[in-house]
Amino acid sequence: MKLKVLVGAGDGIGPEVTREAVRILTSVAEFGGYDFQFTEMPIGGQAIRQTGTPLPTATLDAALESDAVLLGAVGSNEFNALPPNRRPEAGLLQLRQALGGFANLRPSFAYKALSANSPLRPEVTDGADILFVRELLGGLYFGEPRAWDRESGAAWNTMRYTRDEVVRVARVAFDLAGHRRKKVTSVDKANVLEVSQLWRATVIEVAQQYPGITLDHQYVDACAMHLMNTPRNFDVVLTENLFGDILSDEAAVITGSLGMLPSATIGGGVNLYEPVHGSAPDIAGKGIANPLGAILTAAMLLRHSAGLENDAQAVELAVRKVLEQGYRTADLLREGQPGQHVSTQEMGRLVHQTLNELIDRRQALHAV
Ligand code: NAD
Repeated sequence: MKLKVLVGAGDGIGPEVTREAVRILTSVAEFGGYDFQFTEMPIGGQAIRQTGTPLPTATLDAALESDAVLLGAVGSNEFNALPPNRRPEAGLLQLRQALGGFANLRPSFAYKALSANSPLRPEVTDGADILFVRELLGGLYFGEPRAWDRESGAAWNTMRYTRDEVVRVARVAFDLAGHRRKKVTSVDKANVLEVSQLWRATVIEVAQQYPGITLDHQYVDACAMHLMNTPRNFDVVLTENLFGDILSDEAAVITGSLGMLPSATIGGGVNLYEPVHGSAPDIAGKGIANPLGAILTAAMLLRHSAGLENDAQAVELAVRKVLEQGYRTADLLREGQPGQHVSTQEMGRLVHQTLNELIDRRQALHAV
């Protein structure tokens, strides 16, 4: 197995957490005898400082030639005065568009060890394990016409989808559900919007090719409530761009910390992997950032770009075990709750050590 990974650590805590994710991937490669090649390139504020642009051509070319892109985060207060198209975040948006991924995957998982971190009661969140499949290249964020006509005092955006755009993202959701609990909840607003009626009719059509998967539909407003009341009832949630943006952030409270959340964007030429959090300038350079979102993002890379499901699960199990042993970065500590405070690097080292023990045990079992 050979895999070329472009690493864009970016700004703020990006380099700190990405270092730990790369360490995990390197370890998996060493144990498995895989050939993972990492190339690091500048993106975001880091790139503006070096080249004057947030997405240098060399970074974009290297991304397009790689098998996967692993990002840290971009964004720096230093560039806040620049117009939006020249700021660090513009580099990430350009990269996402160039790679063409249309399905954004965001898991929301309730770790038993972190149940006190969620504002929801443990009896509500225990066992919740949701995967959002959010359409990323269509809908209200891209639809034309769009404008703010200051003279008339009106502004408008267009929510637009084609049948083909819905088919391709629905297939991703059904395929993934086949490896999980075999349920897809499609979220729309078909009681009001024609675009949602197209969405629903198309998802029903795609579902006919997946007889083993249960499909249900929810209106987005009802879904927002059910996610908080009965998160355990969801498996894969399939939805359009804007609804997915909002609902996946809402469901993040199930996990309890932004620093824990991974994401993957698949379906384009090259898959893009990034933790959900930003560059967190308030804690950058202090060695206290939570690297688990980045490490879980590396697990998604193993699953979706390398086809190494067992290794991806081993990384996820290692994270769970370290949390069960009580280790916590600062964002995970809660007053009155037990937990041993560790740094970014120490948390990375603990996951690394636990992963190595798991893989050792697995190899010993295979050798018997
Ligand atoms: P943020 O995610 O960077 O931080 C929000 C809060 O969560 C902060 O208090 C931060 O300290 C905390 N936090 C975030 N990640 C953490 C981690 N791994 N461990 C511990 N605590 C963590 O969001 P923000 O403050 O709104 O944005 C900061 C910068 O990041 C801005 O420039 C923004 O544009 C950018 N941003 C980038 C991305 C990305 O690169 N994908 C995403 C969101 C925001």
